[in-house]
Parts: sequence; C-alpha cells; structure tokens
Amino acid sequence: MTQTSVNPVDVSGRLRKMPASAGNPVGSPVQYQLRLGDDHVALNELIGQPISIEFDGVIRCINCDRVTKKSFSQGFCFPCMRKLAACDSCIMSPEKCHFHLGTCREPEWGQANCMVEHVVYLANSSGLKVGITRGTQVPTRWIDQGAVDAIPMLRVATRQLSGFVEVACKAHVADRTNWRTMLKGETTELNLAEERDKLLALVAEELDALRAEHGADSIRAVQEPSRDFSYPVEVWPQKVTSHNLDKTPRVSGVLQGVKGQYLILDTGVINIRKYTGYQVRFCAPANTGDSNA
Ligand SMILES: [Zn+2]
Repeated sequence: MTQTSVNPVDVSGRLRKMPASAGNPVGSPVQYQLRLGDDHVALNELIGQPISIEFDGVIRCINCDRVTKKSFSQGFCFPCMRKLAACDSCIMSPEKCHFHLGTCREPEWGQANCMVEHVVYLANSSGLKVGITRGTQVPTRWIDQGAVDAIPMLRVATRQLSGFVEVACKAHVADRTNWRTMLKGETTELNLAEERDKLLALVAEELDALRAEHGADSIRAVQEPSRDFSYPVEVWPQKVTSHNLDKTPRVSGVLQGVKGQYLILDTGVINIRKYTGYQVRFCAPANTGDSNA
C-alpha cells in the first residue's frame, strides 16, 4: 500500500469504496482517500483543484479478478454475485437472513458477519433515518451515508434480529437517504437522543415481542452519545447532476468536496462506490500553490 499525497497525481487502478476516517480532532472534516488497486490518494488536499477520472473500459470482479462486462452488486462478476453470501438478497433485507435454516451461501462468512452483534441506529443524512450495521462498521457506515450525526439506539444479537427491529421502526421513520438532498448539504438539525427515545417508545411492544421470542438480552437499548461528522466540502452543488462512467468514460472538473461515497465536482457528482471494480486513471495536476486563487 502506498500513500500518494504529492502532486501531481497520476494513478491507475481498480476503484474500490473510498476509505474514510472520522475527523481528528473531533469536529474536523472526515478524511477521504481514493483507493485505486493498492494505491491510496489523499483527497482532502485536492479539494479546489481540477481532477479527472478516466475509465478504460475494463471492469474486474473485486472477488475473483475476472473481467466482467457489467458490475453486479457494486463490483462483482455475475458468478460471484450468485455465489457469495455478501451478494445475497438478505444483505439488502436482513430480516430475510436464512442462516438458521442451514441455507447460508457461505456459513463461515455468515457466522462472522451476520451472527454477530449489530447496531440499530438513527442518523441524520437527508433527514431522520433508521439503519442497521455490524458493530464494527460504526462509524464507517454513517460516514458512507453522509450522515451529519448519528446515534446508536439498540444493540442486537444478530443481523436478522436487527432486520426485524428495523422493519418495526420503518413504520415510523424513513430507512433511506435522499442522496440529492444529502449532497446539497441541506440537512436540518435534529436532536437524535430525543428522536431515539421517541422511537423506542413507539416500537416498545414489538421489541418486547421479539425479546420474548429471542431472549431478553438479545435486544438491548443503549444510552450512547451521538456523533457529529463534518465533510470536506467547499462548495455545495445548487443542482445535483451525476456523472456516469458507462456513458461518459472521462469525467473531469474541479473537486469541490467529498461526502458519503460521492465526489462533488463543479461539473456534477460521481458515486465512487457505484464504480467499484472499474479500472480507471485518476489525475490531478501539479499544485502550484495558488490553484485556489
Ligand atoms: Zn467474480
């Protein structure tokens, strides 16, 4: 793994989900990297500069390396999409987990990734939403969704159980992010601790029924603090238009910010995660020291 942080940048490789880390100290912007194969390009310092991304037409499965005409489940070839537990429909709909039936596509993977503690959380990404994630994916999951703040609500024993809880919560709260609103930076402030307590009261009966079936300790309400995130965005887009590498293989513009898994350019936004597995060349010109002038 090499860290490319000196300009000019000219790196080619297969796109992966952008690694992000919460700002340190607290309150400072999330730090993003563009990952191309084994190379990592620090993105925060490129904000304000022209960049380009050029897709060379080759997509390689991130699991088996095979060239695939189309990317399935964000970066996989068709056979892997059909074979891997990570691409099964229960990943999108955790309440449909079928591990207990002995039909998990990869029981070892399921044991390590689904039969472990999950967090049911509330986040403010484009408004209030409920979501679930593996305990170890906090706060990565929140940053990937572009949440400005998030709070754990419950800790539950398994992925499926978190899915059942989420289904109950969805009757009262959204479970999706409106990515256009998220990218415009138009979030309204919410008191997530208050929202958490309100929602817990609304789903109390359902939670009791689930505890009766799965054990009293299987769903634990938690009083954990919320976390705030600020994103490295210099200019918010007025109108959100998205670039599509399948239609226009070369995308260029001034990098104005990064939020969630999106790059915000003055020419439009691009969802990097959508192009996982795409072989691209990423360029940023030399830093003359006054490129922001
Ligand atoms: Zn594959």
